[in-house]
Amino acid sequence: MHPLGTPPDEQPWVDKAAELAARFATTAAAYDESAEVPAENLEALHASGLDQALLPVEFGGENLSYRAYGEIVRLLAAGCPSTACIWVMHVGAACGLVAMSAPDTARFYAEEYTAGKRFANALSEPSGGNLFLLPQQHALPVDGGFRLTGAKRFTSGCEIADHFLVNVLVDGVPTFFGAAADETIAYLPIGDTMGLRANGSRLVEFHGTVLRADRRCLPPKGHRPNRISSGLPFLSLGVADAAVAALIEHARTRAIPTTGESLSAMQWLRFDLADVHSRLDAAGMYANHMSWLADENDTAFDMATMRAKLLANQVALDAAQLALKAGGGSGYLSTSPIQRILRDAYAGWVMAYSAEVCRDRISAELLDG
Ligand SMILES: Cc1cc2nc3c(=O)[nH]c(=O)nc-3n(C[C@H](O)[C@H](O)[C@H](O)COP(=O)(O)OP(=O)(O)OC[C@H]3O[C@@H](n4cnc5c(N)ncnc54)[C@H](O)[C@@H]3O)c2cc1C
Repeated sequence: MHPLGTPPDEQPWVDKAAELAARFATTAAAYDESAEVPAENLEALHASGLDQALLPVEFGGENLSYRAYGEIVRLLAAGCPSTACIWVMHVGAACGLVAMSAPDTARFYAEEYTAGKRFANALSEPSGGNLFLLPQQHALPVDGGFRLTGAKRFTSGCEIADHFLVNVLVDGVPTFFGAAADETIAYLPIGDTMGLRANGSRLVEFHGTVLRADRRCLPPKGHRPNRISSGLPFLSLGVADAAVAALIEHARTRAIPTTGESLSAMQWLRFDLADVHSRLDAAGMYANHMSWLADENDTAFDMATMRAKLLANQVALDAAQLALKAGGGSGYLSTSPIQRILRDAYAGWVMAYSAEVCRDRISAELLDG
């Protein structure tokens, strides 16, 4: 076993995810076309037991390692990245609420999650963008909690969510809450995203929503990794895997019209593929290292997420662009998976922290620290 790879006793979970991902790949293009949330895929993931396996043991889970989790996200993203995106957000919000809540509330959220209720992250604000951990919207004290009137943008899977992880300012301090979907919360279409079109992002409007005091998260007791920042690099790695697979499939079967020679014999393509695949391998190894840091609860995890995401976002774009170059006119057609993969590759770049923000944080540590 590779020390950065999935622990052997967890391999059956990865195998299960590989089976599901192969199935999801058969409908990924249709979901991209319709921009409909792939609810049946998310239900299948839940039915497989994967959701529950990620919970800590004391809440009925198996505390699945971050190494296995990363590999699972990567497989799912190669099959259907919209499914993988909503799943990462669902898992991240639910496990986050379980980790950050007082014991009774944590148990409530673990039971809801185990029962198949859906979770989403309502963190990014229209004016805050990448600064999703620094909300600008205030929640004001009322009987039993705090009232929020405001909006969050790009909440993946919001319309099927039963619970949201929300952050707001309470007395000027960023504070997390769990909020149940109710009639005070409205979903406004903001246009489908260019990539991950089936991720179900909407503008989520809170109209005087009461954030219950007993659903207020506690301040962190110590360092703790999380399933969102550790999952996002693998989302891009999966898209890169799909790009490389589509490229190879096309290059092997396409003959150059003028010479009759196989596209796969073109030296430029061979060199560029070797280059991008080596960088994909390196980005994958680094992401596995980040997962290992998470399993060790090492504080170096926080900066490693920046590097892992930057490397993965970049290689996903490079692989998808090379696939498009190899695909030529065929890859440019809406019927080709290549154009979808290229659009999907851009989404990882945009999602917080964006590649620019990751660069800024890494350089700040190097230059200003
Ligand atoms: C497919 C998808 C799914 C998403 N799902 C969720 C979700 O489930 N929940 C959720 O809360 N959010 C979600 N988001 C939101 C996402 O995480 C980001 O918060 C959001 O896309 C970035 O905000 P913005 O578009 O306002 O960009 P801005 O932050 O306004 O950025 C604009 C530009 O400025 C750059 N920039 C911004 N800040 C800096 C800086 N400090 N240094 C250097 N450059 C900077 C950016 O890189 C970008 O190029 C999702 C986004 C996408 C695309």
